[in-house]
Parts: sequence; C-alpha cells; structure tokens
Amino acid sequence: MPVMRRRNYVGGDLVAAVDDDWMLSREPATGAELCEVPASNSRDVDAAVGSACAAFPAWANLAAATRAAYLFRLADLIDRDAERLARAESDDTGKPLLLARSLDIPRAAANLRFFASISQGFHGESYAMPDALNYTLRSPLGAVACISPWNLPLYLLTWKIAPALAVGNCVIAKPSELTPLTASLLGELCVEAQLPPGVLNIIQGTGTQAGEALVQHPKIKAVSFTGGTKTGTRIAGITAPLLRKVSLELGGKNPTIVFGDCEFEPTLEASLQAAFRNQGQICLCGSRIFVERSLYPRFAEEFVARARRLIVGDPLEPKSDLGAVISPAHLAKIAGFAEEARDDGGRIECGGAPIAIPGRCAGGSFFPPTVVTGMTYLCHLNQAEVFGPLVSLIPFDDEQELLDAANGTPYGLSASVWTGDLKRAHRLAERLEAGVVWVNCWMKRDLRTPFGGVKQSGIGREGGEETLRFFTELKNVCVAT
Ligand code: NDP
Repeated sequence: MPVMRRRNYVGGDLVAAVDDDWMLSREPATGAELCEVPASNSRDVDAAVGSACAAFPAWANLAAATRAAYLFRLADLIDRDAERLARAESDDTGKPLLLARSLDIPRAAANLRFFASISQGFHGESYAMPDALNYTLRSPLGAVACISPWNLPLYLLTWKIAPALAVGNCVIAKPSELTPLTASLLGELCVEAQLPPGVLNIIQGTGTQAGEALVQHPKIKAVSFTGGTKTGTRIAGITAPLLRKVSLELGGKNPTIVFGDCEFEPTLEASLQAAFRNQGQICLCGSRIFVERSLYPRFAEEFVARARRLIVGDPLEPKSDLGAVISPAHLAKIAGFAEEARDDGGRIECGGAPIAIPGRCAGGSFFPPTVVTGMTYLCHLNQAEVFGPLVSLIPFDDEQELLDAANGTPYGLSASVWTGDLKRAHRLAERLEAGVVWVNCWMKRDLRTPFGGVKQSGIGREGGEETLRFFTELKNVCVAT
C-alpha cells in the first residue's frame, strides 16, 4: 500500500512541490516507510518567500495581542492533538512515545504560549536629554528562515517560529528531511487555526536543496538555525557576505562534572539521564563524565550497572528507556566511534555495538547505552560530538585539571556540576566555557533564560527577550524638545 503523502504549507494551503517531486521518510524503529513529503527546491522556496513577503505588512501591523491570539489558538490545537502528535514524533524519530508525550509535544505548545505572552510586554527604551528625548523602536524584520534539526523536531521548530511570528515576522520553516511529520501536521493545524495565509510557510526537503536555497534567498532578512556545527559554518559562510542576520545553535560535547561531595543518588540518576535521554541525541546531553578520583570507583561501578539495566526497545513500549537512533547512517557513525575507542585502548564497559530488537522493530536502528573508560580527554571520542548513547567516564584529581579538560574541546554549549560546595560551584560556573551551566541539576529549563553556546557551539542566544531582540531591528529616534 502506498504511504501517505504529506504536503508543504505555503500561502495558507497544503501543497505539493512545484515540480511534484517526492521523497520518502522511514521509521527509525522499524525501517518501514512512514510517509512521502515534497522534495522542495528553489522554486518552492521562492513561492514560500513570496507569500511570506506578501503577508508581512498586514501581519506586522496587527496588535501584538492579536498575533498572540493566533499563537494561543495554535497551542490549544496542539494540546487537543497531543496524542496524535506524540505518536507521529515517536514514529518519525524512534524516540520513546512516553518521551514525546511528556517532553516534545507539551514543550511545543509551551513555546507558542510563552512567546505569545512575552511579546505583548516587549517594549523599547527612552533616554531623556536636557533638550531632546530619545526612544527606541523595535520593528519586525520581514521574511525570516527557521531551520531545525531532527532530534527534537516540533519542540525546536516551534522554539524558533513562535518568537519570530509573535513580534510580527513572517516565517519560512524547514524541518529536517529525516523528521518531516510533525511539521507537516503543524501546517494542517495552521489551516484550522485560520492563520492568515503566508504568515507561516513550512517547506519540506533536503538541507542542501531546500535549506540552502532558503538561506541564500535574496528576500530573507534573517536565518535562525539549529543543527550541526559543520552546517552552521556553511550557513555562516553564505550569510556573512550578504550581511544577513544569523543565529546559530550548534553542536556540543558537554561535561558532566561530579565531585566527591555530591549527593550520590540524585547525581548518578541525573548523569544517566544526561547521558542517555533521547538515545543521547540532545545537544545538551553530557557525554564526558568527569568524576573526582575519590568517588570514581564507586560512581563508575554503579553508573555502568545502571546503564546495563536500561531497556532499549520498541519506542511504543512503556518500559523502553531508549528507542531507536535516527537512521542506519547515524547508527553506523555511533558504532564507528565505539570501534575507534576500542582500537585506541578504551575499555567498553557496556554496550559497544548495534543490537537487534525482535518482532516489529527487527528492521530498526538500535544502539545500547555504551560506557567507555580509560580514554584521555584529548582522544577523538572525547573531542568529537557523537550525538548518541555513547559516553566516557574520566577521573580527575583537582579543579584546575578538571577545568582544563572540561574546557578542552572546540565546543562550549552546556555543563553540569554536581557538588555540595556551592562556593566551588559558583567558581566553576564562572570559569567553564559554556553558554549554560547547571549546578546540581540538568536540563532544567526556564524559557525566560538565555540559551546558546560559545566557541563552535554557536553564535547568539535564544530564549526570552533575547530571541525577540534577534527577530527585530532596533531603531533610535531622537526628538528635540
Ligand atoms: P544538520 O546540521 O545536519 O541539520 C540541521 C538542519 O539544517 C536540518 O533541517 C537540515 O536539513 C538543514 N541543513 C542541512 N544542510 C543545510 C544547508 N547546506 N543549508 C541549509 N540547511 C541545511 O543537523 P542534524 O539535523 O543532524 O542535527 C543534529 C545536530 O544539531 C547536532 O550537532 C546537535 O548538537 C545540533 N543541535 C544543537 C542544538 C542547540 O540548541 N545548540 C539543539 C539540537 C541539536 P536536512 O536534515 O534535511 O539535511
């Protein structure tokens, strides 16, 4: 039976690609065909940008509260369809259905509500002089591009489109070709929410064809991108000569830092979560686990024992802690890192090779929680982003050695520090090269806080008013009095 065809959302309509080209999307957990989506190219991008530009003046001129009302309506529709969307997200990514239900979909609705709310209080500044008054205006940019990755598809797509729309931009969004489904369902919900045509456009297709055409399009005013560092670098190369605004949220190689005086049980549990949640495919995952030597033997033994007990299986089974990784190619990449670690003298304490899940998931891409020991922080495994359930345990003796190692990668997205000594925590928080530092917690997110990375983890910050600032142009008006 042919699989269902999903469409682009352009100019308020659900449409095929202009050239009627289609591409197939598969379920990572089973290998089965899931849906076909338009293989969009520059002609589709052109149509989407055209409709965004046409919609822009009216959308930008609406009261913030009126724009917010559309976003609230969309959030309500996401809540209404939460179960359907969670199932689609799980099918499309291979992640446990429970995770999609508890994290991805609620967060997508929360993103829309959050930015709808704060955009209404977004305001300028004023500076009085003896003989003049300055005030600032913040204006939307126009047609902007939002490009998101496959690991948290609807969560990250809405994290970008919500602030862009809330302050009056019109958006062309491109989800990853690996996970087109929830973005396409969002297009359907936009039709139902009667979002004015052209305000949001969702284009499916490959990064190199649809994505790059979008980044290059002469009428695009800004590009908000989340994805790998290599792609981010390419996008920066395209946008820099165009002097186009760009926000880049890129890869990470985050340290989890465990001191001997930590509270053992919560630290262990959170370190496991940070290592393996979403099969280790979250940019914030902690894949380098530094443990103070006094605690190292006990921590390592218990960490490995619990990693072994995690259940890898059918994402639809409530007992599955981990589902499938995103694709056979990604599975091979993760396996390659494990093999290389072994060849380089690392000890594979558990996992280490792809596994087969019998039954419905026999054709899926599964990799078990894998813990490597005996590798220095400088080896390839501890420098490169694996983006899978493969982590390294590394002992350390003192704070300076720890800082050198924790900061000793090209990345700088996040870090988590586990200690009972808060003075030490503050000291480290200041010296860690990361955009986000958690102390005695991990992935606790307040949407008002700035989010982003340093070094090769990105340029710019998202979150709260930072995002609203990115999606607006600032002007000073000086009036003689
Ligand atoms: P990619 O960089 O491969 O892709 C990200 C998005 O960019 C996809 O939609 C992709 O489309 C598109 N794309 C690819 N090439 C181009 C191009 N030349 N021009 C324009 N768009 C392009 O990343 P992944 O999807 O593999 O995502 C994983 C990466 O994302 C990891 O490195 C992870 O750390 C990072 N990430 C960072 C986060 C952060 O906040 N810092 C959060 C989540 C993930 P397609 O897939 O169709 O090729």
